[in-house]
Amino acid sequence: MRAEQLHTITDDVLRTQVCVVGAGVVGRVVARELATRGVTVLVVEHNQTPSAPTEFAVTSTDFDVTTRPWVSRAGWPIPAQTIAAYSARALSYLGLAPPPTPESVGAALCPIAGQVTAANPVDLPDVRIVDATAIHLDTDATGAHVYALELSGLGGRRCLVEAKVFVLAMGAIETPRLLLASRRTLPSGVGNRYDQVGRYLQDRRHGVVARLSPAAAAAAFTEFRNGTPGFALSATVQRDERLLGCAMWFREAAKRGSMKVALDRLLRGKASASDVSIIGGGATGWAWRTAGLPRLGGVDVHAVVEQAPDFDSRVRLSDNETDAFHVPVAEIDPDDRQLATLRRALDLLTDEFARRDWPAPNIDPTPTLTAVNEPTGTTRMSTNPRDGVVDGQCRVHGVDNLYIAGPSVFPTTGHADPTLAAVALAIRLADTIAARMAATRLG
Ligand SMILES: Cc1cc2nc3c(=O)[nH]c(=O)nc-3n(C[C@H](O)[C@H](O)[C@H](O)COP(=O)(O)OP(=O)(O)OC[C@H]3O[C@@H](n4cnc5c(N)ncnc54)[C@H](O)[C@@H]3O)c2cc1C
Repeated sequence: MRAEQLHTITDDVLRTQVCVVGAGVVGRVVARELATRGVTVLVVEHNQTPSAPTEFAVTSTDFDVTTRPWVSRAGWPIPAQTIAAYSARALSYLGLAPPPTPESVGAALCPIAGQVTAANPVDLPDVRIVDATAIHLDTDATGAHVYALELSGLGGRRCLVEAKVFVLAMGAIETPRLLLASRRTLPSGVGNRYDQVGRYLQDRRHGVVARLSPAAAAAAFTEFRNGTPGFALSATVQRDERLLGCAMWFREAAKRGSMKVALDRLLRGKASASDVSIIGGGATGWAWRTAGLPRLGGVDVHAVVEQAPDFDSRVRLSDNETDAFHVPVAEIDPDDRQLATLRRALDLLTDEFARRDWPAPNIDPTPTLTAVNEPTGTTRMSTNPRDGVVDGQCRVHGVDNLYIAGPSVFPTTGHADPTLAAVALAIRLADTIAARMAATRLG
């Protein structure tokens, strides 16, 4: 990424139509979509070598935006079709084909077939990128309009960006952190009149929770040959048993890619499933060996479970720790209500395997789930400003020119990987801003 270092810029004020903060995939998509519509964009990014994921998975294009009475605060202000309308363009940004949706057979579990691709950086031609850290949003006295963003760079160089519109795309921790830390005018920060910023922090939990026998794995990979095989809890069972969203998928434990090679050979008739045999044993000693088939380390069952929104799960500013720019660091206080959902999902998986005559999965009796580190929800979308931070167009409630892009606007996550919906909403946001600028001649 070619960026100008702040200390090499002599101007004290940089002017642009739209300032996008954060050049992760979401910020890049907003910037690119606006630039292609002729809007002048300046991107601020303080990490010139982002540690982006090297590969990217989408297990489902279905985002659960529904109101669920058994999940407090569930329900998005926009319908699923709004996200779906942008899904095809979002998938193409991510280099993914639409995940196939195998026929749903059971009332309790729905088959899923995930897609994985190499992470695909989005180019930013015709966009000015400044290497700096955004440290403060300057507003008018009421907090209703952002007139500048303060940047800090190497050597303590400070600079202001003045823009018609600001878009925060800094991820679900740093975005609320900047809003909370922008407290020179209003002590509670920007967009925080109703104490909503940083709340409802959610992070799905993930773990390897079972292992498949080679015969079960062969059956699953053969049936779901167009994607990574797996199952998700159906909406019916979630409703009937008051459960959260949960997906389980099957992935070889070692030597990524070798399962695909093996299956390609099986499917092309170069080897048969009966050639497959176990060598070794136990959790790590599994391998498949056939004439010409690569060795595999076994097939794990991965599970991911939604976290329900909780007002008290939040990003807070530390009282005693600041970063290099003296901005308080974020403290995270996640909630854990997911094990019951996982246990039930594993029971149902065993039933589903029995129904299909597949050998039973070898379930870990004490599964451990850890945060996936894909936080969501901290600037949630809501119709009422008292229930969230942005409206259905992703504009911060009560601030006329400040928008948020990224998974922080999700009211709930369901089980699905978040980035596809975040990119879909980012494209929609660019449409919204471009239309608004055209209509009001903001440019
Ligand atoms: C290891 C890993 C694997 C993942 N795998 C998947 C997957 O398979 N599928 C999936 O859907 N999702 C996956 N995710 C989640 C995915 O990475 C996020 O959903 C996605 O990155 C969100 O994009 P974003 O642009 O909103 O935020 P980010 O990628 O977090 O980008 C935010 C950017 O803002 C910049 N920034 C922050 N603060 C400031 C500041 N003050 N000033 C200037 N710049 C700032 C940061 O440097 C960063 O570049 C994964 C995440 C991780 C960590």
